Amino acid sequence: MKADSTPYHLCLDVLGNPLRIEIIKELKKGPKSVGELTKVLGEEQSKVSHSLATLKKCCFVDSNRDGKKIVYSLRETLLQNNKGEDLFEALEIHAKEHKGKCWRRD
Ligand SMILES: [Zn+2]
Repeated sequence: MKADSTPYHLCLDVLGNPLRIEIIKELKKGPKSVGELTKVLGEEQSKVSHSLATLKKCCFVDSNRDGKKIVYSLRETLLQNNKGEDLFEALEIHAKEHKGKCWRRD
């Protein structure tokens, strides 16, 4: 691979997970807390939290504190903006907007 290639595959890796896809589908309906997501998805809270952290790192979701709970919402991403781009164009827009954050691994 060329050294300057944009690593889109890392964003696709983040999406390529059944639980993360389910979370995105739920957040498309509206913002939710970890507790709410855990309930609707019937998954362990630790798994849901971990998936949300991964989605946040790749800039697919945002989190906001609402009193005691943290509410997650979907960012405008390739999943939401429907401007007729094909997947790769949409991914490139996502990558440009979030470059430096998407691929920061810690
Ligand atoms: Zn990304």
